[in-house]
Amino acid sequence: MFGFVGTALIAIVPGFANATRVPAAEPAAARVSLALPLPAAGAPALASTSGWQFVRVRSGETLGLVFQQLRLPATLMQRLLDQTSAKATLTHLREGQELAFELDHQGQLKTLRFDKDPANRVELSVAGDAITEQVHARPIEHRVEIAAGTITSSLYADGARAGLTAGSINTLANIFKYDIDFVEDLRAGDTFQVVYEELWRDGQRIGTGDVIGATFTNRGKRYSAFSYAPNGKTEYFDGNGRPLKKVLMRIPIEFARLSSTFGMRKHPVLGLMRAHKGVDYAARTGTPIMAAGDGKVSFVGWKNGFGRVVMIDHGQGRSTVYGHMSAWGKEKVGQRVAQGSTIGYVGMSGLATGPHLHYEFRVNGTSVNPLTVTMPKPEPLSGLALVKFRAATAPALAKMLTVEKNTSRVASR
Ligand SMILES: [Zn+2]
Repeated sequence: MFGFVGTALIAIVPGFANATRVPAAEPAAARVSLALPLPAAGAPALASTSGWQFVRVRSGETLGLVFQQLRLPATLMQRLLDQTSAKATLTHLREGQELAFELDHQGQLKTLRFDKDPANRVELSVAGDAITEQVHARPIEHRVEIAAGTITSSLYADGARAGLTAGSINTLANIFKYDIDFVEDLRAGDTFQVVYEELWRDGQRIGTGDVIGATFTNRGKRYSAFSYAPNGKTEYFDGNGRPLKKVLMRIPIEFARLSSTFGMRKHPVLGLMRAHKGVDYAARTGTPIMAAGDGKVSFVGWKNGFGRVVMIDHGQGRSTVYGHMSAWGKEKVGQRVAQGSTIGYVGMSGLATGPHLHYEFRVNGTSVNPLTVTMPKPEPLSGLALVKFRAATAPALAKMLTVEKNTSRVASR
């Protein structure tokens, strides 16, 4: 991802006194990765070699350590940090980041080159006492792509087959989570389209960008989503400009299995017939539990059969209850929480036969079934905002329609 175009990476390996330089003509794809660890502090330093030396930063490694290994003076490092704008990047090296050092025949540093961010490459040149800094902008091109597919086995397998990354598949599931329960409702034959951005630089794909539009047809019902940022914050809207995000979520946990429904049932531990005032979602211990909606924490504590419990007051008489947690989140009573923020973790505290979330939805103090209750709908965009929304999302919509018309192309993907 940070390959230096025109050159190739060589390994700095203990014992490689004369690390060979891969010829510049070698295609970038033939890069040699740094497979072996750099010597630890105190280990014999490398013999200096003129030419370019490429270092891939390992976990916990600092610039000081890298300078030590290259037998470069710490005083020079300090000058580079003090006299350039590179300090912020070089004092917070990330694992996997690449640094390129050009050394002269005496092993003195001529150039230090690194990517400040994906769009900017910094070159620090040393000539005697003088240090010059150059920043080369490396424009990132955003390309719009579309992936389409049909569910045959799972959202992940079929999404990946259509060419989507795990990140984009997660986004797709998140976009429609208010309307589709991807564990309970997904069916073979469901179809999807995802319009997304790809980031390219110097003719190389360097990553996947945002999902800018999507459709999901679940059991014959079609849902659409378009990303739009009316107030600077990206949200997803349906084709009519209504936010997909509901005021309250029916399922405040991702990828969990509905394990007990609302209503009368035999209590799994007590064995008595009792009204089950919520719904249960089986999930692994430690799975984050989300606040179903914006609100104020009204209770954090222990309640007999329900173990560790959090309650949130969402206003207008609505509140939610979350039970059997293995741990509470950081929020205290009285604190405001945003929809989707983690308020605790799945567990089996209290009376429970296995780890699950007990989720209750109350209207004016009475428990109702969160899966069937009519949720308040957020207001759709209107007027000028709607006009702007339609203009902004027209290209994504056109892309989807093109793919739809040409089903043979979809099948061949
Ligand atoms: Zn329950």
